[in-house]
Amino acid sequence: MARYTGPACKLCRREGKKLYLKGERCTSGKCALERRNTAPGQHGAAKKKMGEYGIQLREKQATRRYYGVLEKQFKNYYEEADRKEGMTGENLLILLERRLDNTVYRMGLAESHKEARQLVLHAHFTLNGKKVNIPSILVKPGDVISVKEASRDSAKFKALAEALESKTAPKWLDVDKTNLTAKVVSFPARDDIDYDFNEQLIVELYSK
Ligand code: SF4
Repeated sequence: MARYTGPACKLCRREGKKLYLKGERCTSGKCALERRNTAPGQHGAAKKKMGEYGIQLREKQATRRYYGVLEKQFKNYYEEADRKEGMTGENLLILLERRLDNTVYRMGLAESHKEARQLVLHAHFTLNGKKVNIPSILVKPGDVISVKEASRDSAKFKALAEALESKTAPKWLDVDKTNLTAKVVSFPARDDIDYDFNEQLIVELYSK
């Protein structure tokens, strides 16, 4: 399974906004973007005026990178969103939200999308009682995601369970913090996504 393996902070500096790819570090003074908010590269500090296409492209890249999805897969999500009824941009974000790795992140059981993906890939979760290790699986209402019995006592999940106490999940997830389980109670809605996306720019980009 292909994935981006380069430096995460470089992606935020490229997009000029926080993509929260490194967990706790992102909200601390150690955040690279807070220390140096310029694009990477030799001429990164030079102010460049961006045209309409550039702005649309940057929004698409930022959204794709936030969710940790590669180009081709992102385009596939867009095409699926476009085939659905309703607003394509909203459909796109909702599809991305429904990914299993994002769901684990929203449950509060990972500090970043990257960590959530790793935990899913290492088969630490079950979906409706069955072992699962595919981060791109889309969850739906009624699904139950749990930390696998054998993983619960690990130091990693004990620490995550402790951190979970202070976290609040979106309303489309009913999280049982004691049993490290969540039930999907509805599809996510646009206003459940508390990140500043401008999905209309992505639609405009792909509609060219
Ligand atoms: Fe982005 Fe987090 Fe790095 Fe800050 S610390 S630049 S938010 S990945």
